[in-house]
Amino acid sequence: MKVGILGGGQLAMMMIQSSIGDNIEFIVVDPSDNPPANKYVECIKSDFDNVEMLDRLSRECDVVTIDFENVPSSSLQYLESKIDVHPNSKAVEICQDRLKEKELFEECKIPVTRYNKIDSIDSLDTSKESFSNGAILKSRFLGYDGKNQVDLDTHNLKTAFEACGGEKLIIEEKVRFIKELSLIGVRDKKGGTAFYPLVENKHVDGILHTSIAPYDDEKLQKKAQNYHNILTDKMNYVGVLVIEFFLDKDNKLIANEMAPRVHNSGHWTIEGANISQFKAHIKSVIGEEISDIKVDKCVAMMNILSTMPDLAMIDMSSLIQIYDYGKTERKNRKLGHITIIDKDKDKLLNRIEVLKKFTT
Ligand code: AMP
Repeated sequence: MKVGILGGGQLAMMMIQSSIGDNIEFIVVDPSDNPPANKYVECIKSDFDNVEMLDRLSRECDVVTIDFENVPSSSLQYLESKIDVHPNSKAVEICQDRLKEKELFEECKIPVTRYNKIDSIDSLDTSKESFSNGAILKSRFLGYDGKNQVDLDTHNLKTAFEACGGEKLIIEEKVRFIKELSLIGVRDKKGGTAFYPLVENKHVDGILHTSIAPYDDEKLQKKAQNYHNILTDKMNYVGVLVIEFFLDKDNKLIANEMAPRVHNSGHWTIEGANISQFKAHIKSVIGEEISDIKVDKCVAMMNILSTMPDLAMIDMSSLIQIYDYGKTERKNRKLGHITIIDKDKDKLLNRIEVLKKFTT
């Protein structure tokens, strides 16, 4: 079995790592010089829309997947005319555009915050006034980790409009959330699904910093899984899909966005579940049926941002695992992560406090 991956970042790296021993070969494509996945396979350096490269993938691979949602959907469409591509181009296209994503949530009766499409500074002016809880302006495309979005409570409209690119924008009412949660689920080719427990996520400057699982709430878990099932059925989706939610004071889930791939808030599944999100994704895209997912401990993941800490300073134990993606240091760049496991949630939270100074 040969799997092509468009994108050679840490997510591709972990997908390959999780499949060691499974008799799967990988061909990875990335436009950069030394992407993290180079650790396991020599990546092909190419833009994602290079036709020669796409033809090579379609000749040599059984299926193609992605580690990065901003791959041109036209490239996925091109590949789809020749081989299996999961997730499919249509699903990826929806997830690339905050507006289409919100429209789909609404069509599926999944609650979202109030929003408006913005194409001019005048429409921004009118819209902002109608959001009494404050508003955030976001670019519809290429927004992640808090990039391409501006809080309109603290910036004037013109500055915000220009900072977000001045076209194809969306304004969202601020959600006064009490928590941020994500649901990682996987759907196989026969439509079978399996889910990880809800994860609680904490962000710093719009960037995910800590994920803690499980977030124990049976009712919310069921609700989130139901939303996930509706979305993946609608998109005829195969692979891992992650929905990020806000939880409001009335314990109501409000969908923020979704990612058509394995997700940073699921890195803990490598040590914390019977099957990691990476392995589950690869199994589903190559056509295997998805089996039950089991999580029987408390697990946390902390991103290492900006600078790699001196690992000798960290009190290592068998309950802590550190990953270094081998990237060069840069402000707010995700360079690695730490997984922490404890049967006892309070002890886990204490360990997180101790490790905080090494990770930001
Ligand atoms: P996003 O890129 O949409 O995931 O946004 C990054 C982070 O910004 C989120 O995880 C939230 O912490 C915050 N955020 C984004 N949109 C909203 C919103 N409508 N209301 C409140 N906070 C938001």
